[in-house]
Amino acid sequence: MPVTEWFASMAMLPDGAARNVAITVEGTRIRDVAAGVAAPPGARRLPGLVLPGLANAHSHAFHRALRGGGERHGGDFWGWREHMYDVAGRLDPDRYHRLARAVYAEMALAGVTAVGEFHYLHHDAGGRAYADPNAMGEALCAAAADAGIRITLLDACYLRGGFDRPLEGVQLRFGDGDAEAWASRVARRRPQDHVRLGAAIHSVRAVGADAMEAVAGWASEHDAPLHAHVSEQPRENEDCLARTGATPTALLEGAGALQAAFTAVHVTHPTDADVAALGSHRAHVCLCPTTERSLADGIGPGSRLAAAGARLCVGSDSHAVVDLFEEARAVELDERLATGRRGHHEPAALLDAATAGGMSALGWPAGRLEAGNLADFVAVDVTSPRMAGFRVEDAAAHTVYAAGACDVTDVVVSGRKIVDNRRHLLVGDVGAALSETISEVTEG
Ligand SMILES: [Zn+2]
Repeated sequence: MPVTEWFASMAMLPDGAARNVAITVEGTRIRDVAAGVAAPPGARRLPGLVLPGLANAHSHAFHRALRGGGERHGGDFWGWREHMYDVAGRLDPDRYHRLARAVYAEMALAGVTAVGEFHYLHHDAGGRAYADPNAMGEALCAAAADAGIRITLLDACYLRGGFDRPLEGVQLRFGDGDAEAWASRVARRRPQDHVRLGAAIHSVRAVGADAMEAVAGWASEHDAPLHAHVSEQPRENEDCLARTGATPTALLEGAGALQAAFTAVHVTHPTDADVAALGSHRAHVCLCPTTERSLADGIGPGSRLAAAGARLCVGSDSHAVVDLFEEARAVELDERLATGRRGHHEPAALLDAATAGGMSALGWPAGRLEAGNLADFVAVDVTSPRMAGFRVEDAAAHTVYAAGACDVTDVVVSGRKIVDNRRHLLVGDVGAALSETISEVTEG
């Protein structure tokens, strides 16, 4: 396998920032990392501070088309959801491919090397299967390949519109009928190097207990990541308690979901028992603070979840913004606002949520600059107006609290450079690609 030497004048290693770091890559993996060394002959230089690739652990690519316009509606989550359904109704595999390619390219420019796509837009607008029943998911996988990033396709089971409501309208696109049909569709997916197949239970309102158990069983059997939206909204908790006598987390635990490689997304309104259960199973919890702010969901108890044993990660979810530094700092800053206290999370832990924590939730051996990890890394400009004054002693804090997506200059995925000096080498003009596909989806 080909060996490439990379050299960074500063890099964030598992035990902290270091100077003069040589990273030896063999094929797609890191073979060796050495700090305090001279640049090996012929090494490719990376500018600024080098971080492991960022993991965007929760994405719905098509929500990107709602940015800006999604603010017209005011109101609450449920009003916004109607607007989101309108966009969902306009997508077909070709359009979704073009839109997601541009969205994933925006993520790549922001330093994201792996995305967890929580995918439920399976069928055509009338709810009929496409000739390839996985055509929409394949469009997402092709889009990730075009943008040069890896994808964990979290194929969501979505069977009903609410505890006592069938799917209707746009929701017909989401449904497979039952968990067996979901599993047989998923079984037809073909393996690809940049794709990890995972499962998702859309939410407790969309999937009954028996089907939940079947999806959780499939995930355990296939050693696949399993994700679910959990307690995003107080109303979801109230409906769940009224109909089942259990909280969403307790219901998922009863169905065996927490026992799988589980990621609970949001967990904004858990009970103390929910926090303890997620912690005792060492579940991942994916916080999506910019979306939770945008949709007026509330502030999740990230520090209590982490203290209980849950592993945090972050996602840009609705893509109100695509900036994982913003997501990571919001985990701490939102808790400060809610509690009137500072210091809930160490800066290194916030950076871990945006890197290793997310990669683990998505099932990739990546997120740390150490031997054996996939060779995903990102260079951050430490001389930009936001980062000026940077000192290596405060590297994690300065980066988490001040860097923006626009400070990412170079991105390497599996040893291949896909962003060079803020330019996407595969997609080119990402702004133009986004504008074109978003107008297609919102106007046509
Ligand atoms: Zn979501």
